[in-house]
Amino acid sequence: MTQKLSTTNHDRHVAGLKYVYPVISRRAGGLSIGVNFNPNNACNWRCIYCQVPDLQRGNAPDMDFELLAEELGFFLDYVQHGDFFEQFNLDVDQRVIKDIAISGNGEPTSLKDFDKAVKLIGDIATEAGIFPAGKFVLISNGSLLHQPAVQKGLVELHRHGGELWFKLDSATVEGRKLINNTGQNQQKLLQNLKIASRLCTTKLQTCMLHYRDQVWSNAEKQAYLELLREARKQEIKLQKVMLYSLARQSFQPEADELAKVSLDEMNSFAADIQALGYDVGVSI
Ligand code: SF4
Repeated sequence: MTQKLSTTNHDRHVAGLKYVYPVISRRAGGLSIGVNFNPNNACNWRCIYCQVPDLQRGNAPDMDFELLAEELGFFLDYVQHGDFFEQFNLDVDQRVIKDIAISGNGEPTSLKDFDKAVKLIGDIATEAGIFPAGKFVLISNGSLLHQPAVQKGLVELHRHGGELWFKLDSATVEGRKLINNTGQNQQKLLQNLKIASRLCTTKLQTCMLHYRDQVWSNAEKQAYLELLREARKQEIKLQKVMLYSLARQSFQPEADELAKVSLDEMNSFAADIQALGYDVGVSI
C-alpha cells in the first residue's frame, strides 16, 4: 500500500525498521532520515509537551550495532537507488535527503557507547555520499554532556560536519522543573552548553508554549535573554537560536492545558534575541 508521508506523520515505524525511520521535516525542508536510539520510549526528562507515547523515565537500551548498520545501509540504498520516493508518494521538490538526525523516542545520549553509534552512522552516511552535502544532526536535551562517551560522540559528530540541537525550553530552574521535569541548575546548564559548543557546532532549540500562565511569561523571556548574555560573556558559542511552537499532540497528562504561542509573540521574542547579536529562526 502506498503511504503518504507528511510533516505531521512522524510515525517511527513507518518504514518497518527498529532504528531507522523517514520523516518529511518541516524544519529541514525535505526527507530527514531519523535514527531512534530509544525504541524503549525512555528519557531522563519528562517534558510536558513530549509526543512520545508511553514515555518512561530511563536510558536507551543497549544498541544492536549490527542491526543499526544493516538498517541504515539498507535504507540509504533504498532511498538512493530504489523506489522509496515513489512508494511513499513524495512530492518532487521533497525528493532529497536533507539530513540524518539522531532523534529518538527519548534522550539519545543516554545510550551506552553513544560515540560508537555516532561514528557508525557518520561513516556509513559518508561512504554512501550523503555527507557532507546532507546535514548530520543530533537532537538532545544536552543534560548528559559531562559523560565521556557523550563528549566523544560530539567529537565524532563534528568530524562529520554535524551539529547539536541543544534543547533549552527555559532559562530558569523553576521553568525547567515545570516544563521538562528536571532539576537541572543554572551552573550545570552553562557547563553543558560550554562543553557542547567547544566540541561541535551547537544550536539552541526552544519550544515556546503557554501553560498555566507560568510558561513564557515576561520574566521567563527576560531570564532567557539574560542567559544568552551570560553565555556570550563566558565565550559559549551558540550558532543559532531556533524557536518553535507546539507542532503535534503531547502524550503527557498536561496535554489539554498546553497552548501554542502566537507567531507574533514568537517573532517579537526572536527580534529581542536578534538584538543581542544572535542568529534566530522561527518555525511554527
Ligand atoms: S527530552 Fe525529548 S524525549 Fe525527553 S521528555 Fe523531553 S521531549 Fe520527550
